[in-house]
Amino acid sequence: MRSLRPDILPKDTLRVRLTLWNTAVVLAMAAAALLAVRIGARAALLRQADTVLRGEMNEIELAVRKLRLDTAAVVEVLQRKAESHESRGWFTQILTEDGQTVWRSDLCPDTIAGYPPTSTDLDEIVVQVGDWRYLRRRLRRPDDSPLRIRIGMSTLSVDSSVDAFVRLLIPVGLALAILTPIAGYWLAVRATKPIDEILRTAAMLRPTRLSDRLVVRGTGDELDRLAATINTLLDQVADHVESQERFVADAAHELRGPLAAVRSSLEVALSQDRQSGAYRETLAEVLEETNQLSKLANDMLLLAETTDSSVAIRSTVVDLAELARRTVAMFAGVAEERGVSIDAPAATSIFVAADAGQLRRLIGNLVDNAVRFTPPGGRVSVGVDRDPAKGEAVLIVSDTGHGIGPDDLPRIFDRFYKTDLARARDDRGRSGGLGLAICKAIVEGHGGRITITSDPGRGTTITCQFPDRKPPKPANPAVASESIGFSLPTIPA
Ligand code: ADP
Repeated sequence: MRSLRPDILPKDTLRVRLTLWNTAVVLAMAAAALLAVRIGARAALLRQADTVLRGEMNEIELAVRKLRLDTAAVVEVLQRKAESHESRGWFTQILTEDGQTVWRSDLCPDTIAGYPPTSTDLDEIVVQVGDWRYLRRRLRRPDDSPLRIRIGMSTLSVDSSVDAFVRLLIPVGLALAILTPIAGYWLAVRATKPIDEILRTAAMLRPTRLSDRLVVRGTGDELDRLAATINTLLDQVADHVESQERFVADAAHELRGPLAAVRSSLEVALSQDRQSGAYRETLAEVLEETNQLSKLANDMLLLAETTDSSVAIRSTVVDLAELARRTVAMFAGVAEERGVSIDAPAATSIFVAADAGQLRRLIGNLVDNAVRFTPPGGRVSVGVDRDPAKGEAVLIVSDTGHGIGPDDLPRIFDRFYKTDLARARDDRGRSGGLGLAICKAIVEGHGGRITITSDPGRGTTITCQFPDRKPPKPANPAVASESIGFSLPTIPA
């Protein structure tokens, strides 16, 4: 998608759009209201006219009944009535039951006079024919067939009254059409002013000045929430950049030690002629230092890979218990050498969907630390279990070693963090301070949690909880079971 720089975007687009929308909505509502008023006023006027016609019809009926429904007398009554009706533009017509006109007033239009009776069943009905409207009533006669009487009027006068009323409202509509965009633009300017401020501040943000933040006005509205969200994002970016900078500085610091050692060994070796044995000794020292350098480089690469969320975890079905047993077996020799006993998990299978290589690395790091920081006579235990209540697989590595002080514990998973004990031991080539950071990244990369508890002088326990994740369907069981097994990694002896 093409992205536009803010300075080349057409100015005021949002305001203009808001104004146009506002105007369109207000004018549409005004038009709808006008239409509703027109329809409503017309219906009310017609209802009123019907009432008047009905009143007139009642009078006619009364007079006619008095005359015992004698047709000639009825005609005479109607003729008299018609004179007063004519001044109001009303018409009257009298018909037989089968629709023959007995008499009609002069104003009775031909369209109505020739209009066939609409229903023979109803005693009274209001009929609208074109611009004419009439009330028709059937007068029953005891000794003769019924008569139908129509009394009606033109609805043109109603329409013209309604039109006159609507014309009165037209100036109001025009005023609305002029004022709405102005008011709409004013509102849009007011509503978008804070966005302008956000834009101005955002435009001044620089990658080198990550401490700047957008102003949160404290109104709690959407714009405030937008500013707060951007600020949170900036906090995270600043944290990330700071941690990257710290990582680079720490990495440089860690690399400097072995490099300085290599350099000084070589300088000493070159400072004068020596026996071949002395050179061999120097080269062995250099080799040891380069081993540490390559371990550090490998650890940094692994850490970068495990913390990079874009790198997919190559999940397969892995037997965590079996993996732990194999790792323990691998460390058995080293542990024995140090006089530390080591327990493997029971012979059950606990399957998890995970990256077998990363899990191997995780267990290796934890067991390596436990063995290294446990004095002779101590014990290291590796346990794997399933917590059905939480639906988790749990890996626990505990030891009866030196433990970690409460001051160190909160930072123990930080990259390059080492306790004083580890620093004092100067565990060359072994202690880069990245092991636990890698463990944390691996566990969290699998959606799990890693926690540590330690009692100085009594031992340390590290617990890794892995949530149940749907394992990918193996193409065939042979492949899946093959992934459970592993080739031993180059975990330092
Ligand atoms: P390292 O490569 O130095 O072992 P880690 O990140 O694995 O780096 O460990 C960081 C520090 O945590 C170690 O230097 C050590 O001081 C301490 N530590 C880790 N595991 C244990 C343990 N089981 N017992 C005591 N201290 C430990």
